[in-house]
Amino acid sequence: MENKVILVSIDGMRPDGVLQCGHPFVEEMMRLGSYTLDARTVVPSVTLPCHMSMFHSVPPTRHGIGTNTYTPMVRPLNGLFEQIAAAGGVSAMYYGWEPLRDVSRPGSLKFAGYLNAYAEDATDGRLTDLAIDRIGKSSPDFVFLYMVETDEKGGHDNGWMSPAYLDCIRAAIDNVKRVWEAFGDRYTILVTADHGGHDRSHGSEMPEEMTIPMFFLGKRFTPGQVLENVSILDLAPTAADILGVNRAPEWEGRSLAE
Ligand SMILES: [Zn+2]
Repeated sequence: MENKVILVSIDGMRPDGVLQCGHPFVEEMMRLGSYTLDARTVVPSVTLPCHMSMFHSVPPTRHGIGTNTYTPMVRPLNGLFEQIAAAGGVSAMYYGWEPLRDVSRPGSLKFAGYLNAYAEDATDGRLTDLAIDRIGKSSPDFVFLYMVETDEKGGHDNGWMSPAYLDCIRAAIDNVKRVWEAFGDRYTILVTADHGGHDRSHGSEMPEEMTIPMFFLGKRFTPGQVLENVSILDLAPTAADILGVNRAPEWEGRSLAE
Protein backbone atom coordinates (compact mmCIF):
# COMPACT_ATOMS: atom_id res chain seq x y z
CA MET A 1 0.00 0.00 0.00
CA GLU A 2 1.23 3.45 -0.86
CA ASN A 3 0.26 5.11 2.41
CA LYS A 4 1.14 3.26 5.59
CA VAL A 5 0.05 3.72 9.20
CA ILE A 6 1.49 3.09 12.66
CA LEU A 7 -1.09 3.18 15.48
CA VAL A 8 0.33 3.56 18.99
CA SER A 9 -1.90 2.95 22.02
CA ILE A 10 -0.55 4.06 25.41
CA ASP A 11 -2.79 2.32 27.94
CA GLY A 12 -4.40 4.61 30.52
CA MET A 13 -2.83 7.85 29.28
CA ARG A 14 -4.88 10.87 30.35
CA PRO A 15 -4.72 14.17 28.42
CA ASP A 16 -3.48 16.07 31.49
CA GLY A 17 -0.96 13.27 32.07
CA VAL A 18 0.60 13.59 28.63
CA LEU A 19 0.66 17.40 28.98
CA GLN A 20 2.39 17.18 32.36
CA CYS A 21 4.79 14.32 31.63
CA GLY A 22 7.58 16.72 30.73
CA HIS A 23 8.67 15.20 27.43
CA PRO A 24 9.35 17.96 24.87
CA PHE A 25 8.09 15.74 22.04
CA VAL A 26 4.50 16.27 23.29
CA GLU A 27 4.60 19.93 22.21
CA GLU A 28 6.33 18.90 19.01
CA MET A 29 3.50 16.47 18.21
CA MET A 30 1.00 19.32 18.64
CA ARG A 31 3.04 21.47 16.22
CA LEU A 32 3.68 18.71 13.68
CA GLY A 33 0.21 17.20 13.53
CA SER A 34 -3.46 17.53 14.35
CA TYR A 35 -4.55 16.55 17.82
CA THR A 36 -7.26 16.50 20.45
CA LEU A 37 -7.00 16.48 24.23
CA ASP A 38 -10.74 15.88 24.54
CA ALA A 39 -11.60 12.67 22.65
CA ARG A 40 -14.11 10.24 24.13
CA THR A 41 -13.64 6.57 24.75
CA VAL A 42 -16.48 4.09 25.26
CA VAL A 43 -18.29 2.66 28.29
CA PRO A 44 -16.98 0.69 30.10
CA SER A 45 -13.59 2.46 30.17
CA VAL A 46 -11.81 -0.89 30.35
CA THR A 47 -8.89 -2.05 28.21
CA LEU A 48 -10.28 -4.88 26.07
CA PRO A 49 -13.73 -3.31 25.45
CA CYS A 50 -12.06 0.00 24.49
CA HIS A 51 -9.56 -1.65 22.13
CA MET A 52 -12.30 -3.75 20.53
CA SER A 53 -14.11 -0.47 19.85
CA MET A 54 -10.90 1.16 18.60
CA PHE A 55 -10.49 -1.58 15.97
CA HIS A 56 -14.15 -2.30 15.16
CA SER A 57 -15.59 1.24 15.29
CA VAL A 58 -18.66 0.19 17.28
CA PRO A 59 -19.42 0.55 21.01
CA PRO A 60 -19.31 -2.41 23.41
CA THR A 61 -23.10 -2.69 23.19
CA ARG A 62 -22.55 -3.77 19.56
CA HIS A 63 -19.35 -5.87 19.70
CA GLY A 64 -20.42 -7.40 23.00
CA ILE A 65 -17.04 -7.41 24.78
CA GLY A 66 -17.83 -5.71 28.09
CA THR A 67 -14.94 -6.98 30.23
CA ASN A 68 -11.29 -7.98 29.80
CA THR A 69 -12.41 -11.53 29.03
CA TYR A 70 -12.90 -12.08 25.30
CA THR A 71 -15.89 -13.95 23.97
CA PRO A 72 -16.60 -14.45 20.26
CA MET A 73 -18.93 -11.78 18.89
CA VAL A 74 -22.58 -12.81 18.64
CA ARG A 75 -22.94 -10.67 15.50
CA PRO A 76 -19.38 -10.74 14.07
CA LEU A 77 -18.07 -7.79 12.12
CA ASN A 78 -14.72 -7.10 10.55
CA GLY A 79 -12.27 -4.86 12.33
CA LEU A 80 -9.41 -2.85 10.89
CA PHE A 81 -7.02 -5.83 10.75
CA GLU A 82 -9.56 -7.92 8.79
CA GLN A 83 -10.31 -5.10 6.35
CA ILE A 84 -6.58 -4.60 5.72
CA ALA A 85 -6.07 -8.33 5.17
CA ALA A 86 -9.04 -8.46 2.78
CA ALA A 87 -7.42 -5.68 0.75
CA GLY A 88 -4.13 -7.62 0.55
CA GLY A 89 -2.32 -5.47 3.11
CA VAL A 90 0.27 -6.63 5.62
CA SER A 91 -0.22 -5.95 9.35
CA ALA A 92 2.00 -6.29 12.40
CA MET A 93 1.19 -6.00 16.11
CA TYR A 94 3.43 -5.63 19.18
CA TYR A 95 1.78 -5.84 22.58
CA GLY A 96 2.53 -6.26 26.28
CA TRP A 97 -0.78 -7.65 27.54
CA GLU A 98 -1.85 -11.02 26.24
CA PRO A 99 -5.69 -10.66 26.02
CA LEU A 100 -5.22 -8.00 23.34
CA ARG A 101 -4.45 -10.80 20.88
CA ASP A 102 -8.20 -10.97 20.18
CA VAL A 103 -8.43 -7.49 18.60
CA SER A 104 -7.47 -9.31 15.39
CA ARG A 105 -8.90 -12.57 14.15
CA PRO A 106 -6.68 -15.50 13.07
CA GLY A 107 -5.16 -14.93 9.65
CA SER A 108 -5.19 -11.13 9.83
CA LEU A 109 -1.62 -10.60 11.07
CA LYS A 110 1.61 -11.36 9.24
CA PHE A 111 3.92 -10.32 12.09
CA ALA A 112 3.38 -10.11 15.85
CA GLY A 113 5.41 -9.81 19.03
CA TYR A 114 4.26 -10.28 22.61
CA LEU A 115 6.17 -9.57 25.82
CA ASN A 116 4.49 -10.13 29.19
CA ALA A 117 4.57 -6.75 30.95
CA TYR A 118 3.24 -8.39 34.12
CA ALA A 119 6.23 -10.73 34.33
CA GLU A 120 9.03 -8.60 32.90
CA ASP A 121 10.26 -5.02 33.18
CA ALA A 122 10.77 -2.45 30.45
CA THR A 123 8.49 -4.12 27.93
CA ASP A 124 7.28 -0.83 26.39
CA GLY A 125 10.78 -0.03 25.16
CA ARG A 126 11.54 -3.55 23.98
CA LEU A 127 8.24 -3.83 22.12
CA THR A 128 9.13 -0.55 20.44
CA ASP A 129 12.52 -2.03 19.50
CA LEU A 130 10.76 -5.08 17.99
CA ALA A 131 8.38 -2.87 16.01
CA ILE A 132 11.19 -0.64 14.73
CA ASP A 133 13.21 -3.69 13.70
CA ARG A 134 10.27 -5.23 11.83
CA ILE A 135 9.27 -1.99 10.11
CA GLY A 136 12.86 -1.53 8.96
CA LYS A 137 13.01 -5.06 7.55
CA SER A 138 9.50 -5.54 6.12
CA SER A 139 7.69 -2.17 5.91
CA PRO A 140 4.28 -3.59 6.92
CA ASP A 141 1.33 -1.50 5.73
CA PHE A 142 -0.12 -1.24 9.22
CA VAL A 143 1.62 -1.56 12.59
CA PHE A 144 -0.10 -1.56 15.99
CA LEU A 145 2.19 -0.86 18.95
CA TYR A 146 0.57 -1.24 22.36
CA MET A 147 2.33 -0.12 25.54
CA VAL A 148 0.76 -1.09 28.88
CA GLU A 149 3.26 0.17 31.48
CA THR A 150 1.53 3.57 31.96
CA ASP A 151 -1.64 1.77 33.09
CA GLU A 152 -0.03 -1.08 34.98
CA LYS A 153 3.15 0.29 36.61
CA GLY A 154 1.91 3.89 36.56
CA GLY A 155 -1.79 4.09 37.33
CA HIS A 156 -2.67 0.83 39.03
CA ASP A 157 0.54 0.49 41.07
CA ASN A 158 1.05 4.16 41.99
CA GLY A 159 -2.06 6.16 41.10
CA TRP A 160 -3.15 8.20 38.09
CA MET A 161 -1.22 11.51 37.88
CA SER A 162 1.37 10.30 40.42
CA PRO A 163 5.04 11.01 39.65
CA ALA A 164 5.54 7.34 38.72
CA TYR A 165 2.55 7.50 36.34
CA LEU A 166 3.95 10.61 34.64
CA ASP A 167 7.35 8.89 34.37
CA CYS A 168 5.70 6.01 32.49
CA ILE A 169 4.02 8.41 30.05
CA ARG A 170 7.30 10.25 29.50
CA ALA A 171 9.03 6.95 28.68
CA ALA A 172 6.18 5.95 26.34
CA ILE A 173 6.35 9.28 24.52
CA ASP A 174 10.09 8.78 24.15
CA ASN A 175 9.28 5.50 22.39
CA VAL A 176 6.84 7.35 20.12
CA LYS A 177 9.58 9.83 19.32
CA ARG A 178 11.94 7.01 18.34
CA VAL A 179 9.30 5.58 15.99
CA TRP A 180 8.65 9.01 14.49
CA GLU A 181 12.36 9.72 13.99
CA ALA A 182 12.81 6.39 12.24
CA PHE A 183 9.68 6.31 10.08
CA GLY A 184 7.82 9.64 10.33
CA ASP A 185 8.76 10.41 6.72
CA ARG A 186 7.20 7.19 5.42
CA TYR A 187 4.32 6.47 7.80
CA THR A 188 1.37 8.33 9.24
CA ILE A 189 1.59 7.90 13.02
CA LEU A 190 -1.53 7.93 15.20
CA VAL A 191 -1.04 8.09 18.97
CA THR A 192 -3.93 7.43 21.34
CA ALA A 193 -4.98 5.95 24.67
CA ASP A 194 -7.77 3.50 25.43
CA HIS A 195 -9.09 5.25 28.59
CA GLY A 196 -7.88 7.37 31.51
CA GLY A 197 -8.14 6.64 35.22
CA HIS A 198 -8.23 8.14 38.69
CA ASP A 199 -6.83 7.05 42.04
CA ARG A 200 -5.69 3.52 41.16
CA SER A 201 -8.49 2.38 38.91
CA HIS A 202 -10.69 3.00 35.89
CA GLY A 203 -13.82 1.59 34.32
CA SER A 204 -16.46 4.20 35.20
CA GLU A 205 -18.03 7.05 33.23
CA MET A 206 -16.07 9.77 35.08
CA PRO A 207 -14.52 12.38 32.75
CA GLU A 208 -11.07 11.45 34.11
CA GLU A 209 -11.61 7.94 32.75
CA MET A 210 -13.60 8.70 29.58
CA THR A 211 -11.41 11.46 28.10
CA ILE A 212 -8.37 10.52 26.02
CA PRO A 213 -5.74 12.39 23.98
CA MET A 214 -4.97 11.66 20.32
CA PHE A 215 -2.18 12.88 18.03
CA PHE A 216 -2.20 12.49 14.24
CA LEU A 217 1.15 12.92 12.50
CA GLY A 218 1.10 12.67 8.71
CA LYS A 219 0.37 14.41 5.45
CA ARG A 220 -3.42 13.99 5.71
CA PHE A 221 -3.47 16.17 8.84
CA THR A 222 -3.00 19.94 9.27
CA PRO A 223 -0.11 20.84 11.59
CA GLY A 224 -1.30 22.45 14.79
CA GLN A 225 -4.99 21.87 14.15
CA VAL A 226 -7.18 20.94 17.11
CA LEU A 227 -9.74 18.27 16.18
CA GLU A 228 -13.14 18.43 17.82
CA ASN A 229 -15.85 15.94 18.69
CA VAL A 230 -13.52 12.94 18.30
CA SER A 231 -14.39 9.41 19.44
CA ILE A 232 -12.28 6.29 19.82
CA LEU A 233 -14.66 4.88 17.17
CA ASP A 234 -13.03 7.25 14.64
CA LEU A 235 -9.60 5.57 14.72
CA ALA A 236 -10.35 2.54 12.52
CA PRO A 237 -12.12 4.61 9.82
CA THR A 238 -9.26 7.13 9.90
CA ALA A 239 -6.57 4.47 9.52
CA ALA A 240 -8.56 2.69 6.77
CA ASP A 241 -9.02 5.95 4.88
CA ILE A 242 -5.28 6.71 4.98
CA LEU A 243 -4.39 3.15 3.92
CA GLY A 244 -6.93 3.19 1.10
CA VAL A 245 -8.82 0.25 2.60
CA ASN A 246 -12.61 -0.08 2.60
CA ARG A 247 -14.38 0.45 5.90
CA ALA A 248 -16.67 -2.32 7.10
CA PRO A 249 -20.34 -1.39 6.63
CA GLU A 250 -21.08 -1.67 10.35
CA TRP A 251 -18.47 0.88 11.41
CA GLU A 252 -20.01 3.88 13.18
CA GLY A 253 -17.05 6.29 13.38
CA ARG A 254 -15.82 8.81 10.82
CA SER A 255 -12.47 9.43 9.17
CA LEU A 256 -10.57 12.38 10.62
CA ALA A 257 -8.11 12.52 7.68
CA GLU A 258 -8.47 15.41 5.23
ZN1 LIG B 1 -6.32 0.04 29.42
